[in-house]
Amino acid sequence: MIPTNRERSRRRIAAACVLAAATAAACASPDDSPGLQRKAKAPASAAADGPDVAPKPVPGAADPKAKAAAEAQAAEAARSLQAAQAVKAAEAAAARQEELRVARAAAAQRWGLPAMPLFAPAPPAAKPELAANGQHVVTKPGLPPIVRRVPTTDKVVFLTIDDGLEKDPEFSRMIRELGIPVSAFVTDYLARPNYGYFRDLHTQGVAVHNHTINHKDLRKLSDEGQHREICNQQENLLKEIGVRPHLFRPPFGEYTDATLRAAASCGVTAVPLWNQEAFADRMEYRYGDRKFHPGDIILTHFRGPETWKGSMTDMLRLTLREVTAQGFALARLEDYL
Ligand SMILES: [Zn+2]
Repeated sequence: MIPTNRERSRRRIAAACVLAAATAAACASPDDSPGLQRKAKAPASAAADGPDVAPKPVPGAADPKAKAAAEAQAAEAARSLQAAQAVKAAEAAAARQEELRVARAAAAQRWGLPAMPLFAPAPPAAKPELAANGQHVVTKPGLPPIVRRVPTTDKVVFLTIDDGLEKDPEFSRMIRELGIPVSAFVTDYLARPNYGYFRDLHTQGVAVHNHTINHKDLRKLSDEGQHREICNQQENLLKEIGVRPHLFRPPFGEYTDATLRAAASCGVTAVPLWNQEAFADRMEYRYGDRKFHPGDIILTHFRGPETWKGSMTDMLRLTLREVTAQGFALARLEDYL
């Protein structure tokens, strides 16, 4: 695929160069034309006629045909310059993409992946509208929508990581080296012993979102209690990470209308839940087809060998293996939600 793009780029450059050369010739010819020589001599002849004689009009200057031709030439030159610049930008983008591909292929080998993870397509120009769609998108008037599957036809799924108990530097290195987008939903009491880990993740491109202060079942709290759990964590994340998230995930995926009202009151615009859950040793699918679908959200956790049969890097290796084998790419949730 890359050589084809390169070949296409090369052809486009060649075409632009031919066009540019032709235009340059067209632009250059007036400089060498007798008309211009006459123009250059005009002031001398005007001076000879005496100061009170108006300079003679430049031949052809008032000729509407010549004027139109000159304008057409200028427009053509501008067009071919634009085309050449577009080709240059496309060439630079293709070169950058190739660099990323080579880096990801090498990282995939280092991390023991059976295949290089696919690159996500360009993000949508506008985020998809979240209309009610069965269990995939649940909406209530005036409240942030619940989303388990983002409406898209792109072959992308999203990896979301909850809580914050395990702070595995190898996992952080793995996503950085592979260039894999993930989103973190952080609980204050678990992250607090080392918020620096999540600050570092954020610095390397991981979006950080809200997963409450104490990880309680919000259905059992008063409206005020829910408000504190959600909105105080917004303030904590602003202080600790420098972000005031627009996404919130309730602990255990459990919520009431009061939960959604409280979340909305402190800046939350959507509540992503999940369709699959990734562990270090297996992927659990919500539906019997045991397949990913465009826009599916995958849940996992900041956990390690103490609660799992493996590490976070094992979890990511397994996730990437399944996602890639089914022809999907991990994409940035925040590009869509
Ligand atoms: Zn949780």
